Amino acid sequence: MSPMITSLLIANRGEIACRVIRTARDMGLRTVAVFSDADRNALHVREADQAVHIGPSPARESYLVGEKIIAAAKASGADAIHPGYGFLSENAAFAQAVIDAGLIWVGPKPSSITAMGLKDAAKTLMAEAGVPVTPGYMGANQEPAFLATEAEKIGYPVLIKAVAGGGGKGMRKVDAAADFADALASCQREASSSFGNAHVLIEKYIQRPRHIEVQVFGDSHGNIVHLFERDCSLQRRHQKVIEEAPAPGMDDATREQLCAAAVRAAKAVDYVGAGTIEFIADASEGLRADRIWFMEMNTRLQVEHPVTEEITGVDLVEWQLRVAAGEPLPMSQEELAINGWAMEARLYAEDPAKGFLPSIGRLDLFQPGEGLGGRVDTGVTEGAEVSPFYDPMIAKLIAPGDTRDEARELLSEMLNECAIWPVKTNAAFLINALAHPDFAAGEVDTGLIERDGAAMAVEPKPSAHALTRAAMAMVPKSSHSGFRLNAPDKRTAPFLLDGERVEVSLHGPGEASPAPSMLVAEGGAVWVLAPYRFDGSHGGTIADGDILSPMPGKVIAVMVAAGEAVTKGQKLLTLEAMKMEHTLTAPFDGVVAELNATAGAQVQVEALLARIEEAAA
Ligand code: ADP
Ligand code: ADP
Ligand code: MG
Repeated sequence: MSPMITSLLIANRGEIACRVIRTARDMGLRTVAVFSDADRNALHVREADQAVHIGPSPARESYLVGEKIIAAAKASGADAIHPGYGFLSENAAFAQAVIDAGLIWVGPKPSSITAMGLKDAAKTLMAEAGVPVTPGYMGANQEPAFLATEAEKIGYPVLIKAVAGGGGKGMRKVDAAADFADALASCQREASSSFGNAHVLIEKYIQRPRHIEVQVFGDSHGNIVHLFERDCSLQRRHQKVIEEAPAPGMDDATREQLCAAAVRAAKAVDYVGAGTIEFIADASEGLRADRIWFMEMNTRLQVEHPVTEEITGVDLVEWQLRVAAGEPLPMSQEELAINGWAMEARLYAEDPAKGFLPSIGRLDLFQPGEGLGGRVDTGVTEGAEVSPFYDPMIAKLIAPGDTRDEARELLSEMLNECAIWPVKTNAAFLINALAHPDFAAGEVDTGLIERDGAAMAVEPKPSAHALTRAAMAMVPKSSHSGFRLNAPDKRTAPFLLDGERVEVSLHGPGEASPAPSMLVAEGGAVWVLAPYRFDGSHGGTIADGDILSPMPGKVIAVMVAAGEAVTKGQKLLTLEAMKMEHTLTAPFDGVVAELNATAGAQVQVEALLARIEEAAA
């Protein structure tokens, strides 16, 4: 007797909520979203058939409150809950509460989650099941002096890991015995504040480490298959940046042994649903089965699951829903095969040039590149607000190809096409990473970005060609605007690029009517190009008295009143945009005939802020 799913609640947000909704809808299910205050207008709310408000913006008061989610499922008549990844997806108590409430949990048994929940217990269990585990100490004794002795035995460098850790947090690499005590104390502090559990384990720090993981899938009839491996070696601070499938340099025999170990691992915990066995490989002599060790299991759908979907043709969310409804796995191991290559990049709202600080705000422009045949999994649309409350990942770009180079080139093209503004993204950084000679050659280890990432993170600059093209579109054909194009010797003119003066070369007459500013998109980055005004107004056009907003921003001060007489160069109002202040001044003597700006107001580009009329003589 199989349970039936007719209505699915997705206990998540962002791209993964949208991803799950897409398949659920295709399968004819009714979908229910949940949302916090900050997500009232979010894409996942609009995509679902129904949406239930579950509280304030902080995740602790909404997406992480199990009771609210179960109550939302009851109230909306949902019969199943998909947790996505992150949030409550690996919370065994929540999974149990869902089941106890008479709902279907789209995930593994709570006992499997518990067995794999702590890294030390999981490793012990895996070692017993005959899965090779990363050498190290994973016992109960947490005495600093004892752990120091264990580290010595393992041999430096070692990695101290919070047993309850995740998301790359709670890890310290220690190179020498002298640094051990401090590193341990700081790791324990972070472990207890971030995960409420100070326990650590100690591992041999693997040389030339590559992160290779295997997608596994089980059903409630005892079948378990693998869907081959993914390589997630390109990491920044132990967090994945670019993922691909299959792993470069993996031969069939090694793959077979690795995937068999992953299936053994899943069998040992009676696994049902989608899961990932993460391994660490010592790639100093290529990929060898005897140098690949179990690291941890993620008992949920992984962020990077799309690359597996692209090379196998399987919709992993569909499989999750079928298995949760009691159906057997749709395909046997023999029917599964690798077809081509796929690469994924995580697009974040962050500023690589500023230490990867999250970049929040409204996505006035949001055009993720699709290239030819690319896949974009996103959780936002143009106009959406990137809030400070959640993970700043805004989209995943997934590029399939026949070969690795094809996938890599398509991904680069997709990133190049990204036009996102004024929120900053890591698109240009990702393009640089893809072009790195070691990455291009498939010789990646997890330290690549630490070694060479500084050059990848340098703030990109638009090419002279892109600037000229944009400038020409802004320059009036017959100009009395201060560009003095008609002067035959004038080859360059000053402009403001994100508020800074640049000289742009111009050729021939202008192409369009004067625009107050223009977005220049190139290489995954976007800049604002605005005319440079010799009178210092840097804003509205000079020819007429229209004072237009040179860019979207906020009015922070208005210095004049409607009807007031002004003199040329007098300050009218101050705008804040791109974190800089721009003061707009009167282009000539006159009166303020119209005033549409009030302090605090958000204004769009080209908004008419004020109009100055020449005073009647
Ligand atoms: P790992 O646990 O090995 O880092 P992943 O790379 O799949 O596995 O990362 C998943 C983690 O990323 C989640 O546990 C979560 O903390 C975080 N995460 C990233 N983006 C989101 C998002 N949009 N919503 C929730 N969690 C997210
Ligand atoms: P998390 O739960 O945060 O995902 P993991 O145990 O999966 O923690 O480790 C995260 C990353 O840290 C790995 O992908 C790898 O880059 C690095 N790492 C983990 N263990 C080792 C090790 N023993 N040697 C070298 N690098 C490691
Ligand atoms: Mg991990």
